[in-house]
Amino acid sequence: MDLLSSMMVKARKEHSCGYCQRTIAKGEQYEYANCADEGYVWAWKTCRDCLEVIDLYNITGDGDPMSYEDFVDIIVDLCKEHGIPTDDDTSVMVKALLARKMDS
Ligand SMILES: [Zn+2]
Repeated sequence: MDLLSSMMVKARKEHSCGYCQRTIAKGEQYEYANCADEGYVWAWKTCRDCLEVIDLYNITGDGDPMSYEDFVDIIVDLCKEHGIPTDDDTSVMVKALLARKMDS
């Protein structure tokens, strides 16, 4: 998977984050990336929470951008490592990890 371009944009309508699946509200800033793989090009949207958790915990997957599966695996591992209960909702774990980093 290749990352062709990425930029911060303001949501003109609601979107769903490609990583935590939460709704990106209208007016919220998010990262809009164009990805390509084997002749296909698609848009990948990442919410600010995920961008922040990726930055704070230096999360890197195998690909650029990393896959959703890689992201969730890493988030679950980080939660276990920091004693945060895991949740089926990835956005809950992302927020818990962010809150933990803000406290320390
Ligand atoms: Zn997200």
